[in-house]
Amino acid sequence: MNYKKARDLRDLLMVIGFVIMLAGYFFSPLVIIGFVVTLSCLIPDFLYNKCPHCGKRLGRNEGKFCQHCGKEIG
Ligand SMILES: [Zn+2]
Repeated sequence: MNYKKARDLRDLLMVIGFVIMLAGYFFSPLVIIGFVVTLSCLIPDFLYNKCPHCGKRLGRNEGKFCQHCGKEIG
């Protein structure tokens, strides 16, 4: 998995988790499930959202260049 897929997966999990939490309005245990799903978006972000050159985490950097080594990541 590369950082682009990790970002997509992270965003997808965040959206799904949020939708499940909203569904908790009708069935309250879903709030907890949605919360867990939302938190799980941190896993791909933590494992794969890294610079392919220096391997450091990109964090909230959505740009084209690594903030650590300055190389292009896109
Ligand atoms: Zn780098």
